[in-house]
Amino acid sequence: MQVVTRFAPSPTGFLHIGGARTALFCWLFAKHHGGKNLLRIEDTDRARSTPESIETILDGLTWLGLDWDNKDYSDEKGGGRNYYSQYEQRERHAEVARAMIENGTAYYCYCSPQELDAMRTDQKAKGLPQRYDGRWRDRPANEAPQGIDPVIRLKAPQTGETTVVDAVMGSITVQNSQLDDMVLLRADGTPTYMHAVVVDDHDMGITHVIRGDDHMTNTFRQVQIYKAMGWDIPVFAHLPMILGPDGAKLSKRHGAPAVSDYRERGYLPEAVRNYLLRLCWSHGDDEIISTTQAIEWFDLGGIGKSPARFDFAKLGSVNAHYIKETPDAALAKLAEPFIAKTLGHPLSLAQLDLLARAMPDLKPRAQTLVEIAEMAVFYFHTGPLPMDEKAAKLLTPEARAVLADLAPRIENLAGFNAEAMELLARAYAEEKALKLGVVAQPLRAALTGSTISPPIFGVAGLLGKDETLRRMRAV
Ligand code: GLU
Repeated sequence: MQVVTRFAPSPTGFLHIGGARTALFCWLFAKHHGGKNLLRIEDTDRARSTPESIETILDGLTWLGLDWDNKDYSDEKGGGRNYYSQYEQRERHAEVARAMIENGTAYYCYCSPQELDAMRTDQKAKGLPQRYDGRWRDRPANEAPQGIDPVIRLKAPQTGETTVVDAVMGSITVQNSQLDDMVLLRADGTPTYMHAVVVDDHDMGITHVIRGDDHMTNTFRQVQIYKAMGWDIPVFAHLPMILGPDGAKLSKRHGAPAVSDYRERGYLPEAVRNYLLRLCWSHGDDEIISTTQAIEWFDLGGIGKSPARFDFAKLGSVNAHYIKETPDAALAKLAEPFIAKTLGHPLSLAQLDLLARAMPDLKPRAQTLVEIAEMAVFYFHTGPLPMDEKAAKLLTPEARAVLADLAPRIENLAGFNAEAMELLARAYAEEKALKLGVVAQPLRAALTGSTISPPIFGVAGLLGKDETLRRMRAV
């Protein structure tokens, strides 16, 4: 049997980081088994689904490198789509609901909204659970009132129990008396979410439904539809929730709910993948797990039952690891947009090359691309260099005198590079009986606008003789 998984987001907002974890697990499981991972956009709710949201989801998945294997569809307007659209299947959903009427597992219900309201009010008054009471289950068609479009309801078993053996949560049983006859097709012919999901999963040949555990309770109802149609029931694996650092469900309140937030904050996709993998899945004590390794190791048995807490500090350290592993030139390209944003213009090729050469000094000190950009932007100011408060304070008349003294010596240097600058500074300090810091700190302030920077002689070497002198003279 070929494994087929699916990620089935509803396009009603951004791609949530929790959704990305689900997408990752679906993808890894399919890859591990040499199977297929499909993308289905659950756009049945026309009022809430937006094309922008679909774009954001596709973008987020692409950025994370979580590719899908179904990319060739056309919609009713003849346009191409690279995902399965639930909405486009609405006729098929209706057809299945009618097939269930035919085989006696569903029925038309003619209750008006007022009648349903009255039913609930009555149940509430009697202290009973509020659910549809099945009043149209066995009424003959000739009793149907005129002028009312019926809904189609599932004729759910009323006795016995339904057991779902979940690959993560284990075996869970509910009494069928707890489940009412849910609506499959609304009076306007549109399918309910519960029905559409099952029909699509069946039609797409899904073998493993991996999704968040907020869908666990839906599973019992969905299983009834599979049984009614005599379809194979897929393996279900419900993933525990992701909590914020404070133990409440991860949400906007915790700061970065969307995948795009992580991109904007300078996290690398491979780091986010690695971090998400560890939310509820483990392989011994391994923390740093490459994607190749993850594909080899991933299994449903490694998923824990308890919710995971999102830990930004840990994500930062995982990201720092992947930053160190990224080759300098590639990292420079990734950091460039962040620097360009501060400068208001892109870097030239020469500047990009300088950034790559500065990387060995920058990358051990950064957890994110944003931090790299913050540290590196000083290299690229061609006009006056913004000076932070401490640096400005450090540039006393004495400090400026040191710089003024050094400048002609630098000018006269035959070969200019980091080593030559260091030798010159050391010789100067010795000659004037100064500590090296008394020479190096003003130089740092002048060249970087800050009192903290990568090693300063290396900075001078990268800036080159002319720029080093320009910056020294500017202060
Ligand atoms: N569309 C649902 C959601 O975004 C997922 C449904 C499913 O995975 O079965 O939560």
